[in-house]
Parts: sequence; structure tokens; C-alpha cells
Amino acid sequence: MDLADQDPRPLRGEPLSLDLLNTRWHDEQLFQQPNGLAVWLATNGLTGRAPDSPETLDALLRARAALLVLRADPLDTAALNTVLAHGRIRRSLDTAGRPHEEPEVADPVWLPAWLAADDYLRLLARDPARIRECVHDHCILTFFDTSQNGRRRWCDMARCGNRAKAARHYAQQKH
Ligand SMILES: [Zn+2]
Repeated sequence: MDLADQDPRPLRGEPLSLDLLNTRWHDEQLFQQPNGLAVWLATNGLTGRAPDSPETLDALLRARAALLVLRADPLDTAALNTVLAHGRIRRSLDTAGRPHEEPEVADPVWLPAWLAADDYLRLLARDPARIRECVHDHCILTFFDTSQNGRRRWCDMARCGNRAKAARHYAQQKH
């Protein structure tokens, strides 16, 4: 079975930085399962681009912690800048004369962490207001709102949206 098929997380498919944040949900964590790192790398098309090693995981956990700090305080930038200092984008023209961008990291264990940090910068450049946490009280999942009206509130309407509606309905029934 494909490793990515073993990804147990309730929300997948968000941009890389938010997908890293979404390795935590409720009281569960993808990286606590034995092949969690391998699954996350597979889900994000990074298998083989970084070693499936404790060092790669450590770098990712640092990037995730830095992103959480930023979600709490957008001006607390030091930790994410430390992650970003591990790499850069090298720009060139390819053999067909087209612009080409290639991430460069000093050590491949930093590639996934650096890509996640770089992705967050791209989301900030697009629209920081569209990086949001699910409004459900018991949900910590994060998404980038790509809806046309920018009014997405739930990580997943079927899961959190309906749970909230059901709770509201139940509360009204009691009166
Ligand atoms: Zn949710």
C-alpha cells in the first residue's frame, strides 16, 4: 500500500506549511506514529528528497513550533527566520529558456522544514487573513481559505460544521 494512503489525518491537502501544522489534531499527532515522518513525506511528495531520519523530523518539529509561535503572534518572527536561514531559492533559466527556481539547503535534513517555512511566506504574501484556524471549539486544524467569498469557517463542513450546527440545535431544543 502507498504510504500516503496510511495518512490518518482528518484534514489533508492544505498548503505545505499548514499541512505541517495539521500533523496535530485534537490530542493526536502524526509524528507519534512509528512511520509518521515517512507518511508525511509521502503525502507531500517529498519521499527521497530528504532522509527519513530523526534529524529531518527534528528540523520539521522546529519549523512547526516556529509556525505555531507565529500563529499566536505574527511579529514573533525569530524562530521561523532561523529555519529559513537553512536554505534559499536559487533562480536560473532552464535549457528551454524558462525561469527556474530550485530550493537549496545546506543539509538535506532541512529541506522539508525549509520548504514548509518558505510556503508560509508565500501564503502571507497572498493574503494573511485567509490563513485561519477552524472555528470549532475543539478543533485546532488550520486551512488556507481559497473560497471565492473568503468566508470558509470550518476545516471541513461535514465534520466540524455539522457538529457545531448539531450542538446549536441541541441547545435550542432544551429551552
Ligand atoms: Zn475543524
